[in-house]
Amino acid sequence: MNLEEVKASLLAGKAELEARVERTHKHTFQKDEPVSANFNEQIKQTENDALVRALEQEGLDELRQINNALQRLEEGEYTSCSSCGGDIGEQRLLAIPYTDLCIDCASASD
Ligand SMILES: [Zn+2]
Repeated sequence: MNLEEVKASLLAGKAELEARVERTHKHTFQKDEPVSANFNEQIKQTENDALVRALEQEGLDELRQINNALQRLEEGEYTSCSSCGGDIGEQRLLAIPYTDLCIDCASASD
């Protein structure tokens, strides 16, 4: 597989994620609107905040995985399973470019 292409798409995904995390982060921490006096509105706001925080966390997790994949590329470890050392396989890497586990280890860890 073409590792230069993989690297380019990982970097593109990373930039996109960073922008997304930045946006959700701003949404969570820059509150222009005053907290609503209406109790039902307050609940809705709280639920929305929790959702946004969950999205931010998800984005950060994904970013961590992408950074990990980029490092593995640099080290020439990209196509090796970090658990058993076997070949992860091109099809699997194309489907999940930031995975570091082969299909056997991934299903074993579930
Ligand atoms: Zn494995």
